[in-house]
Amino acid sequence: MSKELVSAESLLHQAEWRFRLLVEGVREYAIVLLDAKGDVTNWNPGAERITGYKAEEILGKSFARFYTGIDRLLGAPDKALSLAARDGLQEGEGWRLRKGGERFWAKTALHAFRDTSGEILGFAQLMKDLTEQRLVNAKLHQLAYYDTMTGLRNRICLLNDLKSLAEKNGASGLNAVSIVMLDLDGFKEINDSLGHSTGDHVLSQVAKRLSVAARGSGKAYRLGGDEFTLVLPGCDDPLLASNVADRAMRAVEEPLEIDGRRLTVGASAGIAIAPAHGSSVEEVIGSADLALHDAKLSGGRKFSLFAPAMRARVAARQELKLELRRAHMAHEFDIFYQPQIRLRDGAVVGAEALLRWRHPDRGLLTPASFIETLARNPIATDVGVWILHAACETAAAWRAKGLPPIRLAVNLFPDQFHDPDLPAIVADALRQHELPPDALELEITENIALGNEETAKARLRDLRDLGIGLAFDDFGAGYASLKCLTQYPLTRVKIDRSFVDMITDPPASADTAVVLSMITMAHHLGLSVIAEGVENEYQAQFLRDQGCDEAQGFLYAQPLAAEKFVEFMWRAWSQRVGEGRARPTLVA
Ligand code: C2E
Ligand code: CA
Ligand code: CA
Repeated sequence: MSKELVSAESLLHQAEWRFRLLVEGVREYAIVLLDAKGDVTNWNPGAERITGYKAEEILGKSFARFYTGIDRLLGAPDKALSLAARDGLQEGEGWRLRKGGERFWAKTALHAFRDTSGEILGFAQLMKDLTEQRLVNAKLHQLAYYDTMTGLRNRICLLNDLKSLAEKNGASGLNAVSIVMLDLDGFKEINDSLGHSTGDHVLSQVAKRLSVAARGSGKAYRLGGDEFTLVLPGCDDPLLASNVADRAMRAVEEPLEIDGRRLTVGASAGIAIAPAHGSSVEEVIGSADLALHDAKLSGGRKFSLFAPAMRARVAARQELKLELRRAHMAHEFDIFYQPQIRLRDGAVVGAEALLRWRHPDRGLLTPASFIETLARNPIATDVGVWILHAACETAAAWRAKGLPPIRLAVNLFPDQFHDPDLPAIVADALRQHELPPDALELEITENIALGNEETAKARLRDLRDLGIGLAFDDFGAGYASLKCLTQYPLTRVKIDRSFVDMITDPPASADTAVVLSMITMAHHLGLSVIAEGVENEYQAQFLRDQGCDEAQGFLYAQPLAAEKFVEFMWRAWSQRVGEGRARPTLVA
């Protein structure tokens, strides 16, 4: 062998050795050589590790087997070869198959090799398995854009999605997008009374219902707490958006079964539509927020469509909130008393304590102008405790004056009712003013007891155990009244004014029949009945004839300041004594 040949051969050996080192040493990459048809000619350990095929299983077979069925059906392997042949290199990422059919996410490069005449000699297919990295990325994406508890998209995702919708329109911003902002009513009560794990269950169920409700028209997001949002792309029709909001709210309101407990939550919603209510993402969200605020303030379980006037109204409410705090500190609240009359003999047997605000500029204010805002204010519980004590103090003072012992009815704010300390606070007020428990009655409306029936029942039971009375206020005005009536430990039913209004001369038979059945039903359940808003003698006579026990209303007296109430009592007394119907001390 000539020297030249030996060195050429050793050079060749060296080259091959380097090639093997390169191909066989690399375990991170599959390096696969293909012939011009795409059949495998060389196979490195990286390829074996990644795909699971041993060299003897794969040599001579088409590289198409790494592609998924769909990709093969679409002719992807051939396309890759021809693109690589045209451009020299074809790079990408996609699903590939391991032996046995398991998918892996591959970063791929396909190099074409040509001989000196330009004829395709073959290809080198490089693949890196990025499945794990992809999973990690997906997990990170999930964590960043989805709410872990409910699985809904989160606030960041909402902002991103809206931004990309806005970017589609360039400078003009959002166009034809509706946003429905939802907030649960009564969720705080559930969370506080039944614990966070129950609260979490409620949120998860609500989230499921909302994503179903949004299906077909948009996506649901959870912003945090009990706040949710629906985004309806392509929707600029208020009616359509309202329909979706309504559907979503009704879905939320369906009773929930959690750990064998039946719970109900309501929802309020605010709707804003781009571009009418704002074209930047922040503006539209702000508008939807204001509309939601408006829906909440008008009592909840409602939806509001944004209107520009809401901005001013919210500002006014904000101001009122501050003013109410000041009023409480400055002792501007006062209590008026409206007599409650026993229909059988006309005796004054009770009085309802009604809040008034002696406003330094606007004079004496009735609750209509401030009670909603006050009830939503954290100071409601403080004011409520004050009302309870002030009413008890007055009752004690009247008794000390020698007035007949009458019963005082006190209204509760929802937050007061949900305060676990309420029974202790009530007991304390009675003790402090040395009043027997039957001197006090608390008025409960059905939306106060909203949320969890079991806790409401337990709370009422605790109050009843103190010996005080429990009147069900505004009876008939709500929707769940009958059920509450049979399940709650109540002592009295107050027929709502709207029913008393129906008692007209001449009578409209269907309406008055309702009043009659209410009285009968309450009596069957062993409850006493009082009618509120009695304004004329005809109504009083009708109620008396139907067996209603007591009445309250302008016919007898407006709510009166404490000293006026005392005058009223003396007058009522002397009249009754004059008529010889009763002696003052016997009235009660
Ligand atoms: P409510 O508990 O249903 O109180 C009865 C309301 O009806 C009172 O209005 C009373 O003045 C009015 N009223 C009484 N008789 C008649 C009548 O014959 N005809 C008419 N048209 N109205 C009559 P007011 O005092 O303005 O109170 C309104 C509401 O504010 C109350 O409704 C109650 O929900 C709330 N509220 C009043 N005081 C308090 C309070 O101390 N605490 C709480 N939590 N709420 C209160
Ligand atoms: Ca009341
Ligand atoms: Ca009432």
